[in-house]
Amino acid sequence: MTTKLYWYDSHLAQFSAQVVDCFVQDGHRVVVLDQSAFYPGGGGQPYDTGAINAARVTAVAMAEDGRMLHHLEGDVPFQVGEIVAGVVDWPRRLEMLQQHTGQHILSQAFFQLFGAETRGFRIFDQVAEIDLTLDGSPDELTTAIGQAETLANAVVFEDRAVRLHTVTPEEAVQLPLRKENFNTDYVRVIEIADFDWSPCGGTHAQRTGEVGLIAVRSWERAKRMTRVQFVCGGRALRDYRAANQTAASVARRLSVGRDEALEAVARLLEEHKKLERRARALVELATQAEAQELLTATPMTPTPRIILRVFDDRDFDDVKLLAHRLVAEQGVLALLATRTRDMVRLVCARSADLPVEANTLLQPVCEQLGGRSGGKPEFAQGSGIRVAELEHAMAKAVASLTG
Ligand SMILES: [Zn+2]
Repeated sequence: MTTKLYWYDSHLAQFSAQVVDCFVQDGHRVVVLDQSAFYPGGGGQPYDTGAINAARVTAVAMAEDGRMLHHLEGDVPFQVGEIVAGVVDWPRRLEMLQQHTGQHILSQAFFQLFGAETRGFRIFDQVAEIDLTLDGSPDELTTAIGQAETLANAVVFEDRAVRLHTVTPEEAVQLPLRKENFNTDYVRVIEIADFDWSPCGGTHAQRTGEVGLIAVRSWERAKRMTRVQFVCGGRALRDYRAANQTAASVARRLSVGRDEALEAVARLLEEHKKLERRARALVELATQAEAQELLTATPMTPTPRIILRVFDDRDFDDVKLLAHRLVAEQGVLALLATRTRDMVRLVCARSADLPVEANTLLQPVCEQLGGRSGGKPEFAQGSGIRVAELEHAMAKAVASLTG
């Protein structure tokens, strides 16, 4: 079995050890040492990375027989019996132990305040998350999460000691252990002075101050529990910087201070809604006038009065609106298209008093243009991609109608 140096000293980043075994597994060089400061992963906390001599350690895993497997980059073998120097990537370890210890504190805060148990814990690249047996309305949960966050940070600001106890299962029963059903290791208990006792095999801060700020980033309901995403320490600082930068950039664009940005955005959205309503009303008026103009220019006989138009890159909703306005008059058949360089969209509509079927008329047009159409006898729409054939296809459809 590999002696776990991290078990006794989570701040040990450099160590020496003797090579016990060295082999190739799944194409990767693996080395086993008599002792190691590398954390092999577990309990929601990822493994450490670092180096053994000059070889990069890319992954660490604990085998079932208690031997710690260090996966190495490259294929330089070590000799059994050789003394090697191990270096744990400290910034990564610090980041992990901040999130991990922060989780102990946050989980206890939820338990003390609301009796909520932590049923799951994971550290990801950017955030960590816990699954809590916490229920309530969105407003209640927002308030509760804020209170737990406040309590957790108070424990950080008090800079309490974090102590390690090695206990027998009998002794463990005497401790006010917080239940975490994803961890059954009752030999090692981590105490956050007068606050939390948790059985745990991970790496922890020496004092709560080392965890730094504990900030809840978001939360959601998942699997009938409340899942809380949070960041601690260096991650919280990075997250604050990013959030502040976003808020400041938005404020600058609106020419207001950061704290006035939300109100300015609300005003802008209100203004936008008003303009949208006004634009719709104006388009309606313009379309009405355009329809009137087109109808005036089209003789009253023969019927149906056919109105054919091709527009360049016109909004399709506007084209459809125009078709509706045209066929509000009796005896009108409208076949309108809007085209870009590589796409045509068409609408065919007819007045209620005409026996012509717009969908039947439009179908061969769209097929000729390499596209499709759909709709009803009174109103149909479609599209195609053979833009060059548009005029010809439309003329053919009209010819089929007039015989
Ligand atoms: Zn722990």
